[in-house]
Amino acid sequence: MIEKLMVLYLPALDQRRIDQKHTPYLRGLSENYPCTTINSIPEVDLIPTFMTGLYPHEHKMWQVRLKLDDSFNRSSALDYLPDIITTTSQCFIHMFTGYFNLASVPYWRRRRFEIFKTRYFKRELKSHLKINGFDTFFNIVGESNCNYVFEAELNKLDHLPPRLFLKDLRFEFAETHGLDTLEHWFLDNEEKMIDSYNKVDKFVKFLHSECEKRGITLMIFSDHGQELVKNSVDIIQKIDELGIKNNEITYYVEASKARFWFHSESAREKMLNYLAGNPAGVLLSRQDMHKFNVKFEDDSYGEYYFVLNPGTIFFPNDFYQLFGNLYLGLTNKQMRSRLHSPIYRGYHGYMPHNESEKGTFMLLDDNYKTDKKEIEIIDVAPTIINLLGYEQPVSLKGSSAFHL
Ligand SMILES: [Zn+2]
Repeated sequence: MIEKLMVLYLPALDQRRIDQKHTPYLRGLSENYPCTTINSIPEVDLIPTFMTGLYPHEHKMWQVRLKLDDSFNRSSALDYLPDIITTTSQCFIHMFTGYFNLASVPYWRRRRFEIFKTRYFKRELKSHLKINGFDTFFNIVGESNCNYVFEAELNKLDHLPPRLFLKDLRFEFAETHGLDTLEHWFLDNEEKMIDSYNKVDKFVKFLHSECEKRGITLMIFSDHGQELVKNSVDIIQKIDELGIKNNEITYYVEASKARFWFHSESAREKMLNYLAGNPAGVLLSRQDMHKFNVKFEDDSYGEYYFVLNPGTIFFPNDFYQLFGNLYLGLTNKQMRSRLHSPIYRGYHGYMPHNESEKGTFMLLDDNYKTDKKEIEIIDVAPTIINLLGYEQPVSLKGSSAFHL
């Protein structure tokens, strides 16, 4: 059992860049301590899955669900406003409240959805104890034994340590989002990438020594990398070209994956004809998704999915808004390249076998070893729970990645 554990969560730390040039310190750690690869699911928002140890059909946090009532069939006057008007208004609301989810999805479509995303969760422990009603590893370890800290900017990693080590706690979790944001907007800039990885590497080295001084075991965790974006596909335009009307289809277009619900046979036929065998990606029915551990029993979260090949994104997509893009490019240094082009430079959430989707899981304690070359994303929570000596709830099907 481990007395005190600290997790450094580094989303987008790409396994392919754990090398001498990008991360010499991390590379050394990966050779000297137990380290394994994480197999994931076709999704960008992995927080609910790794924090609860449950798959999406179990915790039900899967971006959007079509509302069960038929309220969207009753037309609303706002449906007829141009999309740019509704999305701009929604983005303004978001600018002032900070919590208006999916502001860039036009009103007529947005009102059809119930939203299940962690994006605007408050970055504090309280918001992470339970997700959609399910216990996370924080709640199992107990609120009073935990600390959760978050930093959005890579240049402010040094803001994390003053908020760590404050109390004698069993479990601390430090989340950094800077690397992920920078890869989304600068993955085509190799110099900037090397510099960013070097910064992360230095921070790991510092945090490791601070942990060692205090008898805390450090765990390094990344749930995916990113693929360089080379092409884009305009699916929204295509739906229009196919002559499919708004009342015949509901769609939700992320950068790497789109999902569809059909409200007419002709729309289903036109769209599936277009997508089946389309070389840009892979068409999956809800049942096909079962092979990838997303086993919904009805179509409420999507009838069909189209997952693009790595390096291709949908553009425009439901996260792009003309003025929102300008605003973010002007105000957020880590997204400055939005001003040159609003198309992401790097992305993830592709099919799990791709290198860009592999995570890294490292425990800096040589009393432990791992006998698995690859673990599943639902093994993360059981690993933390077991290492700290808590009993694993029976609802968690995963198992610990590291053993004494
Ligand atoms: Zn990301």
